[in-house]
Formats: sequence, C-alpha cells, structure tokens
Amino acid sequence: MKQECETKGDCIFCKIIRKEIPAHLLYENSHALSFLDINPANKGHALIIPKKHAETTLDLNEKELKELIVVVMKVAKAVKKTMGSQAFNIIQNDGKLAGQLVMHAHFHVVPRFENDCLDYRTKRTQYAHGEASELAKQISEAVE
Ligand code: 5GP
Ligand code: ZN
Repeated sequence: MKQECETKGDCIFCKIIRKEIPAHLLYENSHALSFLDINPANKGHALIIPKKHAETTLDLNEKELKELIVVVMKVAKAVKKTMGSQAFNIIQNDGKLAGQLVMHAHFHVVPRFENDCLDYRTKRTQYAHGEASELAKQISEAVE
C-alpha cells in the first residue's frame, strides 16, 4: 500500500499509519485507517483518518473526502453493533479554534448509551488492561 510518501514525519497519526507507534486498529484500506482513540469518551470511541497527511478536512479533495466518509460510516456501523449502543456521534474538529488537537484530519465516532451524560471534551474514560485489544478485535470483525 502506498503511504510513506504521503505521510508527514513528525505527525503522530502518520506515525500510526507507518506503524511506528502502536494503535488498536479497527479497519484499514488503501486510503484510510481507523483505530481506537487512546483516551475514549465512551468505550469503542473510534478515529478514522486519511492515509495521506492533510491538516484539516478542507485539505482533502472531493474524491478523498468521499472515500473517507464511506469508512467513517463503515466503522460507525461496526462500533454500534459491537458496543450494543443505541446511537453514536460523529465529531469532526476542523482547526485549532474548533478544538482540533492533532493536526491530521480525522473523524471521531463515539457510541452513545442511555444516560451516559457524555461531555467528550472534559470526560474521558480508560480501558482496563487488555480490554482495548479485545474490543478492537471484535469491532474489526464486525466491519462489513
Ligand atoms: P481532536 O481534538 O484533534 O479532534 O482529537 C484528537 C484525538 O486523538 C483525541 O481524542 C485524543 O485522545 C486522540 N489521540 C491523541 N494522540 C493519540 C495517539 O497517540 N493514539 C490514539 N489512538 N489516539 C490519540
Ligand atoms: Zn499526519
């Protein structure tokens, strides 16, 4: 898969794409990658990123955006099914002022549960030892 030439050396998500740092992968194709957020708002919180480094979604062309949103929905469906959640949020922070911390375009998929009182900016949870790998396995197997 061609990816090295399109990634950026010091970008944390590009390092995940190049497998230089570990992540719990959920789905991968030639243009997108999905993995569990390291600091989830709810368990099953997924990130979906383009394999080509782009700071924001507006730096992607129409074809790249379409390819990405298809993967977002594919992963959302698998997360919802695996987590048994009633609903999910798709969050996309575009630009620092909007709360974007990692300057590599990405979408969040956050499964929602009854009375979860989610405030994804301030309230994050953690996985128990081994829990994230088991969950990632289940979600990746549920991707259609
Ligand atoms: P943003 O605020 O930029 O939309 O969200 C970036 C997200 O990336 C945050 O939810 C944060 O927890 C997640 N994140 C930051 N660094 C890493 C990392 O090294 N690995 C993973 N899996 N997630 C990360
Ligand atoms: Zn990057």
